[in-house]
Amino acid sequence: MYLDRDRLKTLSEKFNAKIVPALIVLSPTGDKITSNGVEEVRVASKKALEIWPQGKSLFWSREPREGEYVWQYTACTVCYMRPLIGSRHGCTHQECSIALCETCLPKNNHEHPLVEYLMPKRTYSLEAFIGIYFCAHWCSPCRDSTPKLAELYKEAQESAPGFRIVFVSCDRDEESFNNYRAEMPWLTVPLNASAVLKEYFWDPGEYMSSLFIP
Ligand SMILES: [Zn+2]
Ligand SMILES: [Zn+2]
Repeated sequence: MYLDRDRLKTLSEKFNAKIVPALIVLSPTGDKITSNGVEEVRVASKKALEIWPQGKSLFWSREPREGEYVWQYTACTVCYMRPLIGSRHGCTHQECSIALCETCLPKNNHEHPLVEYLMPKRTYSLEAFIGIYFCAHWCSPCRDSTPKLAELYKEAQESAPGFRIVFVSCDRDEESFNNYRAEMPWLTVPLNASAVLKEYFWDPGEYMSSLFIP
């Protein structure tokens, strides 16, 4: 089934579907069950199909209490709270995208050890001061800035020995990641943990080649 252009425009305005793909699930009476169908299917398609006919969306959430962080685009893997509110635990294994809320954490039997996510915008103390360097081999401003930064870093090891740089890769595959980090004199975050750090520090509005001193 498909619609002509005008009706499509009216519908996408009505349901505010500006980003595609979007899946709006409606009840037989036309009430909106969820406008987040794509994500609900991605997270738990079978469960979503069970729950939609009951007129309910898979995702639910609650009001944050004071000081609680709202993980806007994250769903709890067990209870489907999205946004996930409060403390969030996850696994750093590349193949695991598990996210657990504080209620589901004690009941979990995940095969790997879990870590609590640090909360963005909260202050944590570091023993050294640290620059987190986001860059990618395919990006030309990065290729220019890496040798300059490497020079500065070598000097800093004498004048400010507590200074560390950590490379967080925005490369798309393991091979370019490995080639690029071979050129760097500092520490590297494994490619599979990069996504976590990017979530905290990288502002996509900035140039790829960025150095943060948190
Ligand atoms: Zn949960
Ligand atoms: Zn895991």
